[in-house]
Amino acid sequence: MEYHNLSAKQVLSHLGASETGLTEEQVNQRPKDNELAKEKKKSWIKKFLNQFKDLTILILLVAAAISIFIGAFRKEISEAVDGGIILFIVLMNAIFGLVQENKAEKSLDALKKMTRPEALVLRNGQIEKIAIDKIVVGDVVLLDAGGFLPADVRLIESAGLEVDESSLTGESLPVAKRADVTLKKDCPLADRINICYRGTVVTSGRGKGVVVATGKQTEIGKIAQSISTTQAELTPLQKSIKEVGRVLTYVVLAIAVITFVLKVVARPGDPLEAFLTAVAISVAAIPESMPAVITIIISLGVARLAKQKAIVKHMHSVETLGCCDVICSDKTGTITQNKMTVHSAYFDAKLQSGTIKNIPPRLLQCLLLCNDVGLSGGKFVGDASEVALCNFGKSLGEDKFDFEKQNPRLDELPFDSDRRRMSVQSRVGQQKIVFTKGAVDGLLACCAFIDLQGKIVPLDEKHVLAIEQANKSLSGQGQRVLGFAYKQSDALTEKDLVFVGLVGMQDPPRKEIESAVKKCKRAGMRPVMITGDHKNTAFAIARQCGIANSEAAVLTGQELDKLTDSQLDEQIENISVFARVSPQNKVRIVEALKKRGHIVAMTGDGVNDAPSLKKASIGIGMGRQGTDVTKEVADVLISDDNFATIVVAVEEGRKIYQNIVKAVKFLFSANAGELMSLFLATTMFPKFVFLYPVQILFVNLITDSLPAVALGVEPPESDLMAIPPRDSKKGLFADGTGLSAIVLGLVQTLLTVLAFYIGIVAGGQATGVTMAFYTLNIIQMFYLASIRTNGNMFKSNPCKNKMFLVAVGFCFGLLGLIALTPLKTMLKLADLSVQMWAVIFALSLVMMFASEAFKLVLKFASKRRFNPIKTRKEVSK
Ligand code: ATP
Repeated sequence: MEYHNLSAKQVLSHLGASETGLTEEQVNQRPKDNELAKEKKKSWIKKFLNQFKDLTILILLVAAAISIFIGAFRKEISEAVDGGIILFIVLMNAIFGLVQENKAEKSLDALKKMTRPEALVLRNGQIEKIAIDKIVVGDVVLLDAGGFLPADVRLIESAGLEVDESSLTGESLPVAKRADVTLKKDCPLADRINICYRGTVVTSGRGKGVVVATGKQTEIGKIAQSISTTQAELTPLQKSIKEVGRVLTYVVLAIAVITFVLKVVARPGDPLEAFLTAVAISVAAIPESMPAVITIIISLGVARLAKQKAIVKHMHSVETLGCCDVICSDKTGTITQNKMTVHSAYFDAKLQSGTIKNIPPRLLQCLLLCNDVGLSGGKFVGDASEVALCNFGKSLGEDKFDFEKQNPRLDELPFDSDRRRMSVQSRVGQQKIVFTKGAVDGLLACCAFIDLQGKIVPLDEKHVLAIEQANKSLSGQGQRVLGFAYKQSDALTEKDLVFVGLVGMQDPPRKEIESAVKKCKRAGMRPVMITGDHKNTAFAIARQCGIANSEAAVLTGQELDKLTDSQLDEQIENISVFARVSPQNKVRIVEALKKRGHIVAMTGDGVNDAPSLKKASIGIGMGRQGTDVTKEVADVLISDDNFATIVVAVEEGRKIYQNIVKAVKFLFSANAGELMSLFLATTMFPKFVFLYPVQILFVNLITDSLPAVALGVEPPESDLMAIPPRDSKKGLFADGTGLSAIVLGLVQTLLTVLAFYIGIVAGGQATGVTMAFYTLNIIQMFYLASIRTNGNMFKSNPCKNKMFLVAVGFCFGLLGLIALTPLKTMLKLADLSVQMWAVIFALSLVMMFASEAFKLVLKFASKRRFNPIKTRKEVSK
């Protein structure tokens, strides 16, 4: 069925719908099938098999197969058992990977649900916000600038409506749409200007449409293929770790092959031993569990962020959040409460505050008629300043909707943030009257005045000065000031309007904002307010919240336009408030800040904010007030639209990075330790076997990975938000991380080889291997206790990280189980005397103290490198 060739009325009656929307009963009777295509999910088996794609894992599988095969061939049970154990550990690792992948996928799904698109519909005459999959044919959908079309609709009302249909037709220019036309039957799809299609975007204006097709029946539904499987994208850090891992794998394989050849040449009789040594080297050097550990740390962090009302849409921003040093934020609703109340008014050359009396009828008409609020649950909904105006009208005993019934709207010019005003034309009695409201500065340029003889004359300087004085006085108190004007006219133009008055509205700053701004500054970040509002209003609010102290820190969009790029470059560091800015100005501000090396987070809600959000290092969308377009391009969505939540998200981003660094340090030192000790022991004691491959594999995949995950949930360092953001150009191994991994890896090496030596001297080969094995394992636990904090470990309460206790408990339990059961023989371990155990624990303790000492050295070195006083000063600026 096609609807473009029917009038709006005919379509409504054909669909059994009405302009005020469907009733609940009608909705319940209609099928809900507004889904495009179901997402294909990977099967469990496929996901499980994917775990074996890694090159190291494949090598291990080959090693296991060879061990089992040779064991069976030579009838040597121990070799076959070796193979079996390798297989078991690889299997455990695959299950661990599978569980993690599922966890990450689940949190991704949960995030997707949170960002599920919604639409405004009229049902029973009331506005409702519903998930788009609940939309049925016949629903009346409200269309506003910045919103996506949730279904195919036939327009029943339109005002300056323009839609970007590029996603469907490829046409890049917006198309004007109109409700009041009926087209020919053979009119092609792209020319049907009374129909709007699902997936296209309203770029300006307003409209109302009745749903004519949902889900697969929509034009986009007919061509849309099934959506591909959900895939967590990798962050730059994960990518670089993967790359390091890949390069390391090839290097290690080369070393392993050389070792194998040398060993075979030296002892041609025992190629299996040579092969296993080569495998041991590869296993020792490659941090197999690193990618999984980082993924889990990030997904745990993302889940925590969602709980704190910050929904991460693009994974890379988890890392960028941690180095953000400028937060550019909207004012209305983000810094302020978005709860406006009319507080003052200026008319008849008098300024009134508090209880406002004798309001002129024209001003009242303008407040209520030039107003787009709707009703939901008996309450006014819509733009906060318009809601405030309706509530004000109500306090004077006038209802907007009754008023509109008596004075119906004939036409309108919707609000846009470039003009900063809106106009309607209404029938008042027998007259057609244009009502305009908007930003005072722009409105005055369109205004005239009625003189004492009743003639319309241009506004004279005296009047303009008086109005501007009133505007200055109200905006200076942080009030949002709107100007109102009207004109009797058959044409809807914004020219020669008669100025009637000003209304001042209060929108107090959010309660938590002052402390959030302080926290932000203490953490070396600069909060910058960017608003469409007046300079004085913006400055007054910025001063109340501690964002700016002097008017010199305020720049208007107009002033900005006059600056050259190099002038802006010079000034930008001193500007904390940008007022009366256009969306284009926002892009320029982001570019200028980024050019100076800043990592910029930028909020946005309006339809034209998408370019600046895309430009910013982190685009932040507003979950409540934001348009679909800004939500779509944002990297992070703040579900309560609150500035303080952005600061919390940055804090969480810093914490995630800090924990990743700790895990990387931990895993790399362990690998370095294993590799170096293998090398050292083999060269120092060539006649002895130092560690068997299965033993190394055990340390690498079991006693290393679980504790590393525990580091991911470590509470933040106490100075996390008291230090400047990290330099985004610095790599993961900067600031001593790489050095720590090597130095502490070396300490592990010396301690393990010493344990091996003591074992050999005391009891021969088997005792040596056993001593080395337990020492290497237990060292990890003591090292973990130290690496948990960058400060003094004895001042940090281990109970704050339950996962740490679980990981350490689990690993000690497992080692105990091995030591006390036949598992010991399978792992080629011997019994140890109490003295030997004492030696193992003593050596492991040395590791802990060495790590503590190294922290002090690093701290001392970094104090000498930086002047701490200067850094603090910079931070508190
Ligand atoms: P922020 O970027 O802090 O959210 P804002 O909400 O003030 O700023 P805009 O919505 O672009 O930014 O509004 C800019 C100006 O346009 C306002 O200061 C006001 O003067 C005017 N204005 C805002 N809303 C309306 C409206 N519904 N009708 C008429 N004028 C409006």
